[in-house]
Amino acid sequence: MTSGRYLLTGLTLPNGDKTDIAISDGKISEIAENLSAAEGATKVDLAGSIALPGLVDLHTHLREPGKEDAETVLSGSMAAAKGGYVAVSAMANTSPVADTAGVVEQVYALGQSAGYVDVFPIGAVTQGLQGENLSEIGAMADSRAKVRVFSDDGRCVFDPLVMRRALEYVKKFDGVIAQHAQDPRLTQGAQMNEGEISSRLGLKGWPAVAEEAIIARDVLLADHVQSRLHICHLTTAGGVEIIRWAKARGINVTAEVTPHHLLLTDESALSYDPIFKVNPPLRTQKDVEALREGLADGTIDIVATDHAPHPAEAKECEWQEAAFGMLGLESALSIINQTMVATGLMNWEAVADRMSYAPARIARYSDHGAAIKVGAVANLTLINPTQTLRVDRDLVASRSRNTPFHGMDLQGSVTATFFKGHPTFLNGKLSAIYEARNPSGGR
Ligand SMILES: [Zn+2]
Repeated sequence: MTSGRYLLTGLTLPNGDKTDIAISDGKISEIAENLSAAEGATKVDLAGSIALPGLVDLHTHLREPGKEDAETVLSGSMAAAKGGYVAVSAMANTSPVADTAGVVEQVYALGQSAGYVDVFPIGAVTQGLQGENLSEIGAMADSRAKVRVFSDDGRCVFDPLVMRRALEYVKKFDGVIAQHAQDPRLTQGAQMNEGEISSRLGLKGWPAVAEEAIIARDVLLADHVQSRLHICHLTTAGGVEIIRWAKARGINVTAEVTPHHLLLTDESALSYDPIFKVNPPLRTQKDVEALREGLADGTIDIVATDHAPHPAEAKECEWQEAAFGMLGLESALSIINQTMVATGLMNWEAVADRMSYAPARIARYSDHGAAIKVGAVANLTLINPTQTLRVDRDLVASRSRNTPFHGMDLQGSVTATFFKGHPTFLNGKLSAIYEARNPSGGR
């Protein structure tokens, strides 16, 4: 049984101020030092933790409907809560594809009943992700799921006329097209980054230009029709340069980078372990440095996980046969602390922006991405930056175990997640908001 009142003590706000935070009835009721607990409040000692606005992920593969052996909306929501997230965007490449109002409403409802995070479905741009005919974009936007982000992610919208029409269509309701920038002709059969290591291993290379050419084309298209474009998982130094150029010209483009592309390089492939096989591929150290710089200076707007669960048989095989993708939700914030904050490239205010404010703003999630203040919905992510996260694939909340960070000690560990005033993750335990509303259980 819970009163819905909490007193979180020993925190530091993104601006460096020390504070306690009181929560009552789902909202932040007080922010000050040395608060005393209200009657019936649960006191939570979080000494050493930074308090961030609840994290929002714009790029999550929850695999339901259709691939529930890899992940479900419930298991993916639990992984999200454990990683400090309060909202995730479910990619459309499910089975059936989320290209109708019916499917997006189903995913939205599954998220609501799971009760760990808000699950916002992303709609497919084209029917069946086939790249030819536009999906029911308007019906998905008008549905109960109120879809504003559309993407064929996993595939590139390659036909420039289809891309143009999609960009034009979403203007009606302030939507955005999230492009997986990958020229399919230049990457046919590609297995990893094209470079010295791919030639040494004899694996077919994936050239940087296959990504950059699409980004360049689409920022020009977005400019031409005056619509909003978002570039998924940027991986190359050249891509960062194009986004920087486009923004300088006032083009309405935003971009994301994944934690794994900020930490790992194509040298990981030397292990021949397909745990490191991902789309788009891990690039070079020079690219990693450009991505870090781009995220720090705001050229890259957000961090997005591209959490991509796969069952063991899809990853524990030969490199050539293995599926592309890796888990991301449970380790994302630790990796951002390690690569961006501990290195002095970014402060916590910038982390709050890249992982909460900006993703919520791009996707128009109006109940998310608000600064920590009295009266705001108590969506909070707490991280202790000096604690170590030992990643263990056998202990993940996700239904899959394809984390490339298994056995690594990451710097910084999520200590708690509060979603609408309820601790979805605390003291190493997960708890759904649904259970709090109905403590007698039964679902
Ligand atoms: Zn993608």
